[in-house]
Amino acid sequence: MLQTIPQLRSFAQSQRQSGKRVGLVPTMGALHEGHLSLVKLSQEQCDTTVVSIFVNPTQFGPNEDFAKYPRTLENDLRLLETHGSPAVFVPNAAEMYPNGFDTSIRVGNVALPFEGAIRPGHFDGVATVVLKLFLASQADAAFFGQKDFQQLCVIKKMVADLNVPIEIVMGPTIREPDGLAMSSRNRYLSPDDRCRAAVLSQSLFAAERMIIRENIRQAEAIKQKISDHILAAGGMTIDYVSVADSLTLRELETIDRQTVILLAARIGAIRLIDNVLVENAV
Ligand code: AMP
Repeated sequence: MLQTIPQLRSFAQSQRQSGKRVGLVPTMGALHEGHLSLVKLSQEQCDTTVVSIFVNPTQFGPNEDFAKYPRTLENDLRLLETHGSPAVFVPNAAEMYPNGFDTSIRVGNVALPFEGAIRPGHFDGVATVVLKLFLASQADAAFFGQKDFQQLCVIKKMVADLNVPIEIVMGPTIREPDGLAMSSRNRYLSPDDRCRAAVLSQSLFAAERMIIRENIRQAEAIKQKISDHILAAGGMTIDYVSVADSLTLRELETIDRQTVILLAARIGAIRLIDNVLVENAV
């Protein structure tokens, strides 16, 4: 297990010097099949995979669940051992943010709406820690889930704007049998709420069908349908339902290009996000 940035750096350097392609999978731990699918993708595309596990304090707001975020390191390490034994980087907060740390990466427009609007500073925290991980690991490729689609857009933009020499690869969202996107936070849902939560993905899939099969192109109609569907299940409040251009994340009135439908909702104290890409919306 690698715990310091110099350890990670010298490990990655030795791998690269022996001609190996290094893949990085950044996580906050509490690993599930979604994370493991990214590990597998990296192992398919790279010779050496590094999984980082770090619950990054700077991407949580003051009233968010940093303290309560699940930490299951022993289990995570066991899981990774049965999934090809990638190298694991587990820094502590002082390693990532030593006293006096005073730099932040702020990505522009793609970081502003949706999660960025509801969680001020969240993407600054994400971009900063991810860039630190990119630089320390000198990875050739990094793997992120579609589950956090806006995060992926933010990281791609940072990499493009700062000419970071790394390939960003998106893995598909891994779901439970009823469609709920896997998330480290799902374990905190009560059994009732866990049942209800399936409506989130179901509403997105129904919207996708409306667009593709019924050719409904008005974003407003789609958003309304999704909201109605979710609220009918009861016990949930909606933070946002948005229909946006999947490249720029600008909201659309008419679905006439590659589109992403994103939503965030709260079930009790638990906040869940999900999205679908409507690839053939044109
Ligand atoms: P997290 O530990 O929640 O920060 O997530 C680490 C990485 O795993 C991110 O790239 C997430 O997008 C990805 N991820 C989380 N949940 C899923 C999922 N259900 N399917 C695919 N990737 C996921």
